[in-house]
Amino acid sequence: MKKIFAVLLILLTANAVYGVSEIILNDVERPNGAILFIVDGLGSSYFYPEYTPYALDGSRLLKADAPNLTFETRVLDVKVPTPSTGIAHSVIVTGYSGADEELVGYPDATIYDITRRHGFVNLAIMHKGDFYNMRAEQDIIMYAPDNSINNPSVSIQANKPYEGIYEMMYDWKMKMPEYFDNKTGYDRYSAYNKWGIDAAGAVVEEMVTNHPSQKFLLTVNVGTIDSGGHYRGDYDYVMLVEDLDRDFYSLYEMASENNIALFFTADHGMSFAVKGAQRGGHGSVKYSSQQESLRIPFAVLSPNVNGGVVGGEYGQEDIAPTLLSILDLPDTLQYADGEAVNIKNYASIFVNSKTEYNVSLWNNGIRVTGGSDSELVFTGLPLNANYRIEAKGSAGKYEEQLFLDSDKQLSFMDVGSGFSKREMIAAGMILAVNVAGLIIIWRIRD
Ligand SMILES: [Zn+2]
Repeated sequence: MKKIFAVLLILLTANAVYGVSEIILNDVERPNGAILFIVDGLGSSYFYPEYTPYALDGSRLLKADAPNLTFETRVLDVKVPTPSTGIAHSVIVTGYSGADEELVGYPDATIYDITRRHGFVNLAIMHKGDFYNMRAEQDIIMYAPDNSINNPSVSIQANKPYEGIYEMMYDWKMKMPEYFDNKTGYDRYSAYNKWGIDAAGAVVEEMVTNHPSQKFLLTVNVGTIDSGGHYRGDYDYVMLVEDLDRDFYSLYEMASENNIALFFTADHGMSFAVKGAQRGGHGSVKYSSQQESLRIPFAVLSPNVNGGVVGGEYGQEDIAPTLLSILDLPDTLQYADGEAVNIKNYASIFVNSKTEYNVSLWNNGIRVTGGSDSELVFTGLPLNANYRIEAKGSAGKYEEQLFLDSDKQLSFMDVGSGFSKREMIAAGMILAVNVAGLIIIWRIRD
């Protein structure tokens, strides 16, 4: 019993070193979790009502009727810096337009490093985009090591498997052959995507039913819109988008009913040389500068976002900061050059420092709120208002006027290094508790 108490004390003091205080000004409706749904190779040119897709020779291509993929808040113009799978997935998760697969493995480079630090579990189901560093970022991932439609195979990599999810994913791995039963050609492509969507739905269902208080980020990649474009031509490509529209709706409904944020996007688009082409592409010189390869969808469903079509030009690197803003997490992505699309219906101020600061927020000469910690979050702040922020800490006084058109980050860097008084006390307590624990263990052994 005493041993357990000692371990508990160590955990408590360890937490105290990294204190986070949250101050909620107005009621905010935050999502309970999030799905990042990436459709491999889906160009927005092929289904956004505003666009018309063209082949390289200038002929007009067929368009998909996909109302379920243009939900709630939709950003019209989002372009990819590099239309190739591995790089584009790296841009999506790091918020850096020049990212590659190696960068994903660096500390604090990805959205997953931030979600994990804030108590989320990172789950993934990916046909493509599941390179080594992407898999390493997940607590658990079910993925397709090769992307064979003829001989599909599935692996599970459990780095830190969350309760019940491994067993669930294993069931879905075993269910895959049922989806292909007696199917050939086009139908196998469509079934492969449906399996991915249904498996994602099952993970969400498991989390909301059995672990309702556990926040999660589920990353999904469905692969056969891309494969269809490469190997079956423009007609089947568009038909596969319509199948996706049909099969995706159940996941959308589940997210909507359970207060889960849904981010719908693609790694890159797809281009065809002529109408009726048997093969398409996106990464090679022939295709990579086409609008059809570069323009991707980005739609967001979340209780703290107002719906509508968002104009303006954005890049794929803006997706990660937007996702973090909607989850009310500080954008501490180390390499990001993207910026959040301002679609959240309130603003948050994230204050970060090495030591404890006393921070207060003023509006028109009136102190609105305040608090003391090394990490503070002020949330639920009305947009487009002026605030003055005052902070007092070990490095002195700090004051700034802020116009809140979006989330703001403030960092107070102390001059000089070394441990703060608070960290010293905490470290001392950890040491004392450890010694006490050892003495207790030693006595029990005696
Ligand atoms: Zn791709």
